[in-house]
Amino acid sequence: MIDSHCHLDLPEFEPDWQDVLSSAVTQGVERILIPGTTVSGWQRQHDMAADNVQLDVAFGLHPYFFPDDPQDALASLRKQLQTTMIKPVAIGEIGVDGAIDTPLKAQQALFEAQLEVASEQSLPVILHHRRSHHLLLESIKRSRFTHGGVIHAFSGSEQVARQYIDAGFKLGIGGTITYSRAQKTRQTVANIPLQHLLLETDAPDMPMSGRQGARNEPQFIGEVVAALADLHGIAPEVVTEQTTANYFALFGSRTQCK
Ligand SMILES: [Zn+2]
Repeated sequence: MIDSHCHLDLPEFEPDWQDVLSSAVTQGVERILIPGTTVSGWQRQHDMAADNVQLDVAFGLHPYFFPDDPQDALASLRKQLQTTMIKPVAIGEIGVDGAIDTPLKAQQALFEAQLEVASEQSLPVILHHRRSHHLLLESIKRSRFTHGGVIHAFSGSEQVARQYIDAGFKLGIGGTITYSRAQKTRQTVANIPLQHLLLETDAPDMPMSGRQGARNEPQFIGEVVAALADLHGIAPEVVTEQTTANYFALFGSRTQCK
């Protein structure tokens, strides 16, 4: 199993992230991708990955932590990509968040600038959405972005899912589908072929059903596999095998830069 979206670098994991990682490995998690959020966070991700071969990293500017000076932050991103010893597997987490105060126009501009960086590097992207599918799809189209990626924590209709798939994206599937009340997303995920899906926890957020109120961890990703297997009426092993293949097809294998 691969956790394609886990914020293992956040303060919630600071005291025990190495234990969290080994518990995940014990439960059969072979890789974890840590998406980037802020300029100051990239170095920590980098150092964690340098010491642990199971970790992949992406660098990017998360809309939720919108930088004070976007141009300066973009220059830092380009510099990070030039100087890093660990090659990132993607640019992310980037996108538009429709539930925060930062003007949507400014968010969309920073998002499109990062799509451009991803194009320059021939890297896929990790997308963040909240009430913003129409804006993300509009930007992808306008930027003529062709390197694909993943729409993280996908929720929405089958029609929206198909638009991302047509644009070359996979859908990141996490704890949402473990809740029986998430009927719309469960129905969508049941109708989308497995080849378009990736597993994720979004830990420490998005706890699985039955674990509300507790910190989410990558070791629980088997519960997403079980829910997916159930929705598709197939064996959990098939889900694991296909989503792992999807991950490597999209992100490749990690390589040292120097
Ligand atoms: Zn995230």
